[in-house]
Amino acid sequence: MSHYDIVILGAGAAGMMAAIEAGKRGRKVLIVDHAADPGEKIRISGGGRCNFTNVNATTATGRERFLSQNPRFALSALARYTPEHFIALVRSYGIAFHEKTLGQLFCDGPSTQIINLLVQEMAGAGVTLKLRSSLERAEKTEAGFALVLSDQAVSCEKLIVATGGKSIPKMGATSLGYQLAAQFGLRVTETRPALVPLTFAEQVLEPLRELSGVSTNAVVSHGKTRFEEALLFTHRGLSGPAILQVSSYWREGDAIAIDLVPGLDMLAALRQARKATPKLAIQTVLASHLPKRLAQLIGEELDLPGMIGDFSDAKFEKVVAAVKAWTLKPVGSEGYRTAEVTLGGIDTRDLDSKTMEARQVPGLHFIGEVVDVTGWLGGYNFQWAWASGFAAGQAA
Ligand code: FAD
Repeated sequence: MSHYDIVILGAGAAGMMAAIEAGKRGRKVLIVDHAADPGEKIRISGGGRCNFTNVNATTATGRERFLSQNPRFALSALARYTPEHFIALVRSYGIAFHEKTLGQLFCDGPSTQIINLLVQEMAGAGVTLKLRSSLERAEKTEAGFALVLSDQAVSCEKLIVATGGKSIPKMGATSLGYQLAAQFGLRVTETRPALVPLTFAEQVLEPLRELSGVSTNAVVSHGKTRFEEALLFTHRGLSGPAILQVSSYWREGDAIAIDLVPGLDMLAALRQARKATPKLAIQTVLASHLPKRLAQLIGEELDLPGMIGDFSDAKFEKVVAAVKAWTLKPVGSEGYRTAEVTLGGIDTRDLDSKTMEARQVPGLHFIGEVVDVTGWLGGYNFQWAWASGFAAGQAA
């Protein structure tokens, strides 16, 4: 039986970072993944350009952008491995990147540059990467763990679980991390798909289908939580960054409210149009503030024929309500099939925030998305993967 100081399950963002840091400390590390290639989610991330961090992740507001039953849990790891650390690593490989919006850093070229960086760093740190292999059994021993992998039995002192969340099973997501947590007596909080498009009842969706492909800037709110970003109409429902963000807060039965003209005093704009262009139909007036097809549909739904010059303020209020406070009740989400992340996971009460080690099981660590820490869209999830991976790699 081969012996390693550390075995890491999952060669994704968090697992590879942990492997690099542990390897650099001279630890003998094996990292195991059932996929044919490491970092498959990195490859598809950020539309193929990997939004690898967010420069605001450790600012006072950025720290609020991690959801968890205990949001303070993530702070220690995030403070010790900051966006600047990862940016320095990216720069050291000469990888070109740019800030797209809201502090989000994307590669100029393909995401595979980030995977190559991590693979090269692992090789430099003497890490053994084993692909197309998985865990069949794990047992605690006096000296650590005895593991039966698909094709080999190994022993190790420390076991780091970095098998990610449940999202996109087609890409190899499994529940192994949650099963190991249960086997070793750690609690797991309720898990649900997040950063996911929302779906609607057929009667709501039917008229919206003709808008499929239309995108507009909007404020989407759920209670006091609001996101101003792009909203995208699809043939299945609503998507785009504003909807994905709000989906992490939305629960079954809740309504969401949409302001389709953020920052615009719509009533004032309509009164102005009544004076300046009295002969126009409402659709035409709306089309100067909204995509044409959307303006057309809202006009039809409101059913307010005639020229705007004849409209009363009471009619305008109806238009304002439709455009600035469009309230909708999603019936569900597209689920793990398309969700970018999994909300919930290994209960942070059972982990040490500095080392990611299980409080009751010395030598067992959980990192990355499998833990109950979920970031906003925009590079926060990778920053958590890097930071929690770094913490465990330093400690194990
Ligand atoms: P993962 O990266 O999912 O790695 C887990 C690894 O474990 C995988 O390699 C998997 O093959 C392996 N594994 C799972 N089960 C087993 C098993 N039973 N046996 C062996 N191996 C196993 N976040 C951002 O910050 N920026 C983005 O631009 C971004 N874009 C995204 C786009 C998409 C389409 C998706 C789905 C997610 C995106 N995310 C993004 C989220 C981000 O990819 C994840 O939060 C991050 O990858 C989590 O890292 P991880 O290492 O914990 O898990």
